Amino acid sequence: MTIADPAPPATGDAAIHHTACTLDCPDSCSLEVEVEHGRVTRVRAAPPEIAHPLTSGFICSKVGRISRHLYGEDRLLHPAVRTGVKGDGGFRPVSWDDALGLIVQRMMEAKATFGGESILPLSYGGSNGLLTQDTADAILFRRFGASQLARTVCAAPSTAAALGLYGKMAGVALEDYEHASLAIVWGANPSSTGIHLVPILRAARARGGKLVVVDPRRTPLAKQADLHLQPRPGTDLCLALALHREFFRRGDADLEFLAEHATGVDELRRRAEPWTFERAAEVTGVPAPDIARCYDWYSGASPAVIRCGWGVERNRNGGSAVAAVLALPAVAGKFKVRAGGYTMSNGAAFRNVGWREPSPGTRIVNMNHVGRELTDADPIQGPPIRVLFVYNANPLATLPNQELVRRGLAREDLFTVVFDQVMTDTAAYADLVLPATTFLEHDDLAMGYGAMVLHDTKPVAQPVGEARSNLRVFGELADRLGLLRNDDPRSEPEWRQAVLGGERQRRLAEEGLVLPETGRRPIQFVDVFPHTADRKVHLCPPSLETESARGLYAFHSEPGDGRYPLALISPSVPQTVSSTFGQLRPGQVPLEMHPDDAAARGLGRDKPRVRVFNDYGEVRCRVRHNADLKPGVVLLPKGVWARSTESGTNACALAPDTLTDIGAGACFNDARVQVEALAD
Ligand code: SF4
Repeated sequence: MTIADPAPPATGDAAIHHTACTLDCPDSCSLEVEVEHGRVTRVRAAPPEIAHPLTSGFICSKVGRISRHLYGEDRLLHPAVRTGVKGDGGFRPVSWDDALGLIVQRMMEAKATFGGESILPLSYGGSNGLLTQDTADAILFRRFGASQLARTVCAAPSTAAALGLYGKMAGVALEDYEHASLAIVWGANPSSTGIHLVPILRAARARGGKLVVVDPRRTPLAKQADLHLQPRPGTDLCLALALHREFFRRGDADLEFLAEHATGVDELRRRAEPWTFERAAEVTGVPAPDIARCYDWYSGASPAVIRCGWGVERNRNGGSAVAAVLALPAVAGKFKVRAGGYTMSNGAAFRNVGWREPSPGTRIVNMNHVGRELTDADPIQGPPIRVLFVYNANPLATLPNQELVRRGLAREDLFTVVFDQVMTDTAAYADLVLPATTFLEHDDLAMGYGAMVLHDTKPVAQPVGEARSNLRVFGELADRLGLLRNDDPRSEPEWRQAVLGGERQRRLAEEGLVLPETGRRPIQFVDVFPHTADRKVHLCPPSLETESARGLYAFHSEPGDGRYPLALISPSVPQTVSSTFGQLRPGQVPLEMHPDDAAARGLGRDKPRVRVFNDYGEVRCRVRHNADLKPGVVLLPKGVWARSTESGTNACALAPDTLTDIGAGACFNDARVQVEALAD
């Protein structure tokens, strides 16, 4: 497979191109890009006549200013090998030929000595679409017999819950929220991520609809809401179960719908039974009258929709919490009308998309335990990791138990390749860095998981330096290692066909973007049904029941032993997409803290330096008072790079590498910390 990166527009052209955003964001915006001399000069929303309706009109400032990322001083320009100590970031350029030769040599050596499982590919969403991830890379690593990665750092519990209950049914289209009489935004902050929902919610309120926000802090959206519930992190499950209990207790549950479309009703009813409003109030910290008001509004509204975000899952109860939230529209009888039901990920609007490379049956490493695996702190069966290949990810800035990850990356006997667009914190620990193209410089396919849309994306700018695409680099490595077969795709059109199927590819080529299979925005239980074997919602599915040690919907109480009384949350922020663009963040990031918690520690308003710490690690930074936080909750943003704190650590240094009840996901919001002043 010797795919060459496609020729972008010739330098010297001044032109406007249309493409789409493949960043790890629900919206998948249609973009208009101005290019001069092969360089991007301006990015904005594509005009309405060719844009997906959801994202027509505006895009986020992150991508609006992406030229700072494309042409900034951190951009990787050439393959380079390490010259100094790991972590120092000293490198000297080498040719692509030498770089790929070195990778092949180190992979072969590791396999010969320790077996294929001593090689671990590590990737996440990064900025990649359907062509540049799980395609040629899957061929390379799976056919070579490498260890496999469970991408559990985000969305794993939510996916497990959505699959278990509904077999991943397509959700309510975000555009339809305008027609909702009540929208509950639960554990999501669309002002930072998935921004196109915000004006729609505003329009719904202008039409008389109500808005409820469930979040431990007063987000910008919560300030506009008719009701804001602030549960203590990790207790959303109790809140959802209390609502279920009330539906059954009052006889408001839609028994007719449940009899026809659901299983596990009695199990759910039994497990919700202990959760009175008063008990839920005690555990969550949400006043019982507020829970009652939420119940009254939700039970009485139609259409009523729940936007379940990924904030719900990031704790020990995360899988059960998402399941309980997603079960609400079934129990409450909210389906079968436009704008009635729920939205989690809308990726299910498109089925049978992607390249299916068979699993080699090798061990699977949980992403949340990469630090353990790299340091042999608690290795699962198999040889030690000797070759780590990082792409579309910045694990040092995003994985829990950061100190363990750092110690692993610093191992001299670990050969680490980082294939990225910029010199990330992780890349500074690499033995070999490879420069990657961005989504504006290569071919890809963008599929929204909020917007129901599939876009074709084309290179609109010249790749910077010697940057190459994933498809090209992984294809060439697979070729050098003799892993290719005659029927493997050999070009971008062939890859498109393999990933999409012929009919979709044809439509995409003709129409530029493709809308869901239903041909219109689906109504749940009218146009789309659960993809379970019996097409019913399984409110207490056996698969989730056995996975959770204490059973589905069992509440695990407050973690820790009281030494660390503050709950640390690390939500998304408008400046970054996970850690992408973190290098561009100006200044230092403060710890945000409620004024009462600050006063209790003698931390005045003069932004004192503090040490945030627990048994996992510490972050040294300034503190900022924020009365929008629930008392007892502190905040450090997600995806912060080392340069943005005094200690070079971020919230991941304080995050436990424990796992959620189902889905084996990350428990970032189970971080419990203490804060003390540092002398200036
Ligand atoms: S990051 Fe999200 S909001 Fe920003 S351009 Fe990409 S898809 Fe749109």
